[in-house]
Amino acid sequence: MTAVARYARRAEEATGRDTAPSLAASIEAIATQAGVEVVGFGDVREALTPDFLHLPQGISLGVVHPAVTLLQNRRGPVSDRALARALSDHRDTRGQAVLEAALRRIAEYLRAEGYRYFCCPPEVDPMETPFAALMVRRFSHKAAATCAGLGTVGRHGLLNHPEYGPHVGWATVVTNAPLPVNSPEFESRCGDCGLCVSACPAGAISGRPWRREDGMVRMVDVDKCRTVLDENERATGRRTCGCCAVACTKARLIESSIL
Ligand code: SF4
Ligand code: SF4
Repeated sequence: MTAVARYARRAEEATGRDTAPSLAASIEAIATQAGVEVVGFGDVREALTPDFLHLPQGISLGVVHPAVTLLQNRRGPVSDRALARALSDHRDTRGQAVLEAALRRIAEYLRAEGYRYFCCPPEVDPMETPFAALMVRRFSHKAAATCAGLGTVGRHGLLNHPEYGPHVGWATVVTNAPLPVNSPEFESRCGDCGLCVSACPAGAISGRPWRREDGMVRMVDVDKCRTVLDENERATGRRTCGCCAVACTKARLIESSIL
């Protein structure tokens, strides 16, 4: 049974509503042809602001950071330094282009089918695209992806995909198309782990686990985090840190016997 058919059956069992698996299959095909690696559908009404209530279905699209694939395919041990360097820069120009192309094509498809939609782009530079940046602040890819069951939020405040951890770039479409939705996630799956908390040079991570019912409670002190980014930029010219995400990924790669 395909993922889409599974979503449809679960959604019909849970809600009794008629959904459109063929619509979902077409969207999934458009996304994967554009190069998207993770696709999921969720009911986003509880997770997003009231601005989006008229568009209750979320389509979450993810592209895996190239360093993760590189590390997974690599034979032999990888040094801590190489791992940190590969993963600490979250920017991924190719992934961003893939997500933007997928958003354009899905928007065209939904428009042609007569549905309303709003595309929330991948991370954007607020100086270059102020409108998109404004919308990004009112919208959470992370919230939409947890609604689609694509991962949970870790103690580091990032979305943890079960296989790729925090190293996935996200974009989202919200729409009124009747898509079959997956089961949402409601809380962290970090268990007793606290590696990101101890790895953070700023002491910025509170360590509290994420729970959807807590709403927008901050798990990371962004001012402390920004101070480290500023210092790193002055010292190296690169505005990156990512110690929390690297610690998380390292644990994941060790668990899967890659390191
Ligand atoms: S490092 Fe551990 S505690 Fe932090 S997000 Fe990853 S799994 Fe959760
Ligand atoms: S990016 Fe660095 S400073 Fe910011 S929360 Fe993660 S580890 Fe801490």
